[in-house]
Amino acid sequence: MNIFKKHESNVQCYANNFPVVFSSAKGCWLHTEDGDRYLDFLAGAGSLNYGHNNPVLKKALLDYIDQDGLTHGLDMHSQAKGHFLESFNEKILKPRELEYKVQFTGPTGTNAVEAAMKLARKVKDRTNIVAFTNGFHGVSYGALAATGNQHHRGGAAMPLSGVTRIPYEGYADIDGLALFETMLNDNSGGLDKPAAVLVEVVQGEGGLNAASNEWLQRLEKICKGNDILLIVDDIQAGCGRTGTFFSFEPSGIKPDMVTLSKSIGGYGLPMAIMLMKPDLDQWAPGEHNGTFRGNNHAFVTAAEAIDTYWHNDEFETHIKERAEQLNQSLQNNLKQYSNLFEGIKGRGLMQGIECKNGDVADMITSECFENGMIIETAGPNDEVVKFFCPLTVSESELEQGIHIFEKAVETISTKLTRRAS
Ligand SMILES: *Cc1c(COP(=O)(O)O)cnc(C)c1O
Repeated sequence: MNIFKKHESNVQCYANNFPVVFSSAKGCWLHTEDGDRYLDFLAGAGSLNYGHNNPVLKKALLDYIDQDGLTHGLDMHSQAKGHFLESFNEKILKPRELEYKVQFTGPTGTNAVEAAMKLARKVKDRTNIVAFTNGFHGVSYGALAATGNQHHRGGAAMPLSGVTRIPYEGYADIDGLALFETMLNDNSGGLDKPAAVLVEVVQGEGGLNAASNEWLQRLEKICKGNDILLIVDDIQAGCGRTGTFFSFEPSGIKPDMVTLSKSIGGYGLPMAIMLMKPDLDQWAPGEHNGTFRGNNHAFVTAAEAIDTYWHNDEFETHIKERAEQLNQSLQNNLKQYSNLFEGIKGRGLMQGIECKNGDVADMITSECFENGMIIETAGPNDEVVKFFCPLTVSESELEQGIHIFEKAVETISTKLTRRAS
């Protein structure tokens, strides 16, 4: 343990909440070097939707390595990339009647967001981009300007510019879209006409606020009516997390650009893509560059994940059933412990329970850790306990996680009641 304290930067954060050393992982389970095991309800913040060391993906990867398949390929053509593009087009885009060109960006989410913001500004020849309260889009300078969280913004140590923020649905009971539309059409509203609007359909880090279909449809209409591009950041909410491959599917909107990362590689391998409507592909070769845009191992597992889980609707049905199972428990807890909880947030397997404050959420997640489960919080004050198990979770594994959570809630409620009396 000392090796980390001594040599690793203070910037690490998850490790502070879970101070053990992990040695192996399988499915929903993490194992430590001391022989303990933990249920993983963090799942790489949504990067492990198909679980740790998923056997199907692992086999595809091992076979590929065994055949000396390309590992690193810059942006050169490779069979692995070709296979991914084919699977993604045939099994994801076509059935959803979506037509996009695929840009392979540097392998982090924030780089896909940078690419989208840069391209929108280039195409529209406008600087401003509208983002929302509680939005999280990454921490490189361009994306960080669109991120709301002051803790992250503070790390910039220089002005973050080029973004105007408006209230997300439900924020402070303000109709953010009415405000946006009014300001757009007011010569003296002070809003520079944006190149694009950047939005999360469910705000992953911002507290699992979920936009309604109506709100998204209104947003799309405002963008269309004013020649503004609509970018959906689906880095966390995409790849099935909300119950459909893309989080925006139930709303029927067709964003101009979409960013994907986290679980697109399937195996927890770094990969990010930016999807754009074909007419927006106005890049010159190499204009948005990056050495690691060709992580072929990720292409192999990304394609295998699509071929295995998205060739029919079985996986979506599974996610919906597990989401319902989780929701039932959260409803019961909300009813029983109105002293601790405010409400249920999010949708699909992107749900959480909002606590009265961040301290309560912290006590609950710490207690869960003591009892063998890794689970994190989200929201402006870390007040939302966020259930982020792999989507491949079985009914009984989810039940075990729910049980650990319910035990923790019982313990913390008793503790707080005693303290108060
Ligand atoms: C995680 C995340 C990012 C940033 O991805 P990184 O890989 O951490 O750079 C951007 N947007 C959303 C919605 C995210 O959840």
